[in-house]
Amino acid sequence: MTNTFGGKPHVLILGGGSVGLTTASELRKTLGSEVAITVVDPRPYMTYAPFLPEVGAGSIDPRDVLAPLRKVLPGSKIVTGSVSAIRSAENTVEVLTEEDETLEIAYDYLVVGLGAVPRLLPIPGLAENAIGFKQVEEATAVRDRILANLAEAATTKDPAVRKRLLTFTFIGGGFAGGEAVSEAEDMVRDALRYYPDLHSSDIRFVLVDAAPFVFPELTEDQRAYVLNQLRERGIEVKLETFLNSAENGVIKTSDGDEFETDLLVWNAGVRPNPVLADEETSDLPVVTERGPLMGKLEALADLRVNGADGPLENVFAAGDCAAVPDLASGEGKFCPPNAQHAVRQGKRVADNITRSVQGRPLVDYYHKNLGVMATLGMYKGVGRLNVGDKELDIRGLPAWAMARAYHVYAMPTVGRKASVLAGWVSNLISRRDIIGIPQAETPRAAFEYAANAGKKK
Ligand SMILES: Cc1cc2nc3c(=O)[nH]c(=O)nc-3n(C[C@H](O)[C@H](O)[C@H](O)COP(=O)(O)OP(=O)(O)OC[C@H]3O[C@@H](n4cnc5c(N)ncnc54)[C@H](O)[C@@H]3O)c2cc1C
Repeated sequence: MTNTFGGKPHVLILGGGSVGLTTASELRKTLGSEVAITVVDPRPYMTYAPFLPEVGAGSIDPRDVLAPLRKVLPGSKIVTGSVSAIRSAENTVEVLTEEDETLEIAYDYLVVGLGAVPRLLPIPGLAENAIGFKQVEEATAVRDRILANLAEAATTKDPAVRKRLLTFTFIGGGFAGGEAVSEAEDMVRDALRYYPDLHSSDIRFVLVDAAPFVFPELTEDQRAYVLNQLRERGIEVKLETFLNSAENGVIKTSDGDEFETDLLVWNAGVRPNPVLADEETSDLPVVTERGPLMGKLEALADLRVNGADGPLENVFAAGDCAAVPDLASGEGKFCPPNAQHAVRQGKRVADNITRSVQGRPLVDYYHKNLGVMATLGMYKGVGRLNVGDKELDIRGLPAWAMARAYHVYAMPTVGRKASVLAGWVSNLISRRDIIGIPQAETPRAAFEYAANAGKKK
C-alpha cells in the first residue's frame, strides 16, 4: 500500500483533467512542499476539450491541446492507471495499471475529478459504428477520416461509393456537437479548392438532434441565427428527429430518411464517470433521481462530498462528475458541466484543502457564469456574454475572435498557447493542412504488406 509521505498530508487526485490539473497545481502554490500530491489518470496528459472541434477541423495540431501532467506538475506523483475502486470508509483507492497490476493508495484528502463519459442509447449499430468526440484521438480520427474520404471519393468511379464516402453524420447539436459539425464542414469547404473533381453539392453533412433546436445554452434569437447559418452552409439539420438505427453504416432516422454514411459521430449527451455509480467500485453516494444530475456525486457548496451520514471531511468532488450548487444562479440550481466551472472549482478545492490543513474555515464555491462562446469555422462564431447584470449577444467575426482568444488564455502552459497561436498563423500563411492519415490507426500495415509480398516470391 502506498502510504505515508514523511508526515505530510497526502492529497490523492482522481482524474488529471480540468479539475485534477488545476487542483494539483494550485495546491503546490498554496502549500508548497508541505503536501504530497498524487494524480491518477489512465492518460499521462490533460486534454483541453474546448479545442477538440478545431482539432477535428485540422486547425490545431492534436498534440497542442494536451498538457503533459509530469511536465506541468513537477513534484507531484503521476500514476498512469484507472481508478477501479474508491473505499472512502478506509481512506483508500484501488488503481488498475495498463499492465493489469492493482495498486492500493491511501490518502488523507481525496479529490474526485473523474469527469464524464458519452451517454449511449440502445440504438442498433450505434456502439459498433459510431465514434465519440471527447478524446483527442477521436477528434483526430474524425479529421483523418473526412480528409481521406475526400481523396478516395475523388478517385472512385462508383457513384454510390462516392456518395457514402462524402456523407458525414453527426448526432447531437449541443455545444460540442454543434461546434464539431460546423468546424468539420468548414474544413471540407476549405479543402475542396484542391479537389477539382469534387463539388460542394457532392458533400452531405447531416446533423440530427431530438430537441427542437441546436445550441440549447443560447437565446432563442441566437439559436435561430446558428440554425440559419448551418443550413445556409448546406448542413442538413434534422430537428426533433431520432437516430433509429446505424447498422452496417446505414443510417435510419425517425423522419423516414435512410442513407449510407462513412462517418457517424455521437455527441448526444454525457453521463458521469460510471466508476462512481457502481456500488462495487465506489462507496461514495451518488444522486439517484432521474435527471441531469443522476450518477453525480452530491457536493456541498464548499465542494466536500455529502456522504450518507453527512459531509465527508476529507473528500472533495468537482467538475463534470459532481452536482455542485450554483450559488450565483440561486436556490436549487446546479453548475453546468463545463471547463469554465471545472477549473474554478479545482481552485476552490485546492484552497479549501489548504484551509482544512491549516485549521481555517472552508469557503463556498461561487462563480457567476461568464457566458458561452462557440466557433463555427474560420471567422464564424456565436456567443452570449454576461456583462454585469446584462447579457450580451455576439455573433460572427467578433464572437469567433473572442472564443479563440479566451481559449488560448485558458489553455494550460505557455508552450501550448504559443504552439496553438503559431499553428493558426501558419494556417493563415499557407492554409490548413488537407492530409488525413487514417493509416495511423494501422501503423504496421505497410510493414506486413512488405513481409507478405516477400513471401510470395
Ligand atoms: C468537444 C468538447 C468541447 C467542449 N467545449 C467547451 C467549451 O467551449 N467551454 C467549456 O467551458 N467547456 C467545454 N467542454 C466541456 C469541458 O471540457 C468539461 O466540462 C471539463 O473538461 C470538465 O472537467 P473535469 O475535470 O470534470 O473532466 P475532464 O476534464 O474530462 O477530466 C476527467 C479526467 O478523468 C480521467 N479519468 C476517467 N476515468 C478515469 C479513471 N477510471 N481513473 C482515473 N482517471 C480517469 C480522464 O482521463 C480525464 O483526464 C467541452 C467538452 C467537449 C468534449
